[in-house]
Amino acid sequence: MTDFENSFPSTLQYRRSRLIESPHAMFNRLKGTSPSPYASLNLSYGVGDDPQCVAANRQRTKQALGISLLLSAKQVHGEKIYCAQDIAKNTEVEGYDALITSQPGVGLLIQQADCQAILIHDPVRKVVAAIHCGWRGNAVNIIGKTIAEMRKRYHSDASSLLVAISPSLGPCCAELINYRQELPEQIHHFQVKKSHFDFWAISKHQLAVAGVPSGHIDVVGICSACDRNYFSYRRSKKKGEAATGRYGSIIALPLT
Ligand SMILES: [Zn+2]
Repeated sequence: MTDFENSFPSTLQYRRSRLIESPHAMFNRLKGTSPSPYASLNLSYGVGDDPQCVAANRQRTKQALGISLLLSAKQVHGEKIYCAQDIAKNTEVEGYDALITSQPGVGLLIQQADCQAILIHDPVRKVVAAIHCGWRGNAVNIIGKTIAEMRKRYHSDASSLLVAISPSLGPCCAELINYRQELPEQIHHFQVKKSHFDFWAISKHQLAVAGVPSGHIDVVGICSACDRNYFSYRRSKKKGEAATGRYGSIIALPLT
């Protein structure tokens, strides 16, 4: 089997945004090959799962999207942005939380267990970006920084960007007891009940401040801790489970 083979329909389950025409998908955890506690579409090599299962799972996501290569990162809840140019094989870079490319056919993969994936398409400059954004990402505004980098490197105009926010920890479950120390004061008003925050609204706000029109932003609105079809670090921790997998979201530019 080659990377380009896509001869059978994918059975994977994923959400797409109608705003974005470029190949993209926000996968849940079903229909993969990994055994428990990574069952089953675990896309991370860094959580203790069998690498062969992860490779098979990643292969399925590529087939679902009709792409040949994946670029991912060993994510660190930081603010470093990786701009990819000449990717020739599947690549995982270390220490980055945002990925940008103008290279067609390269899927930018974000690995998640409660954090948001922010998928961005610039149909004018033909650039895509994918951001791993937990509360630390919102605290340092990695979203605004990534859009600034798209402007600087690729001349993207924020008013043309189309954005999807993936399933992630919802306002129902995003409790941050130490928020006064952990979140900058200007986003404290996104508190929806005691110590609970609407991080989807925070991301929308940060996108708007960066210049993205509100009609260009799609929020799936599924909470990963409430919906068992997604891996959830919080849910697993509450249940005392030591390990959990990572679901994934991918965006790419089409090959043609
Ligand atoms: Zn929830």
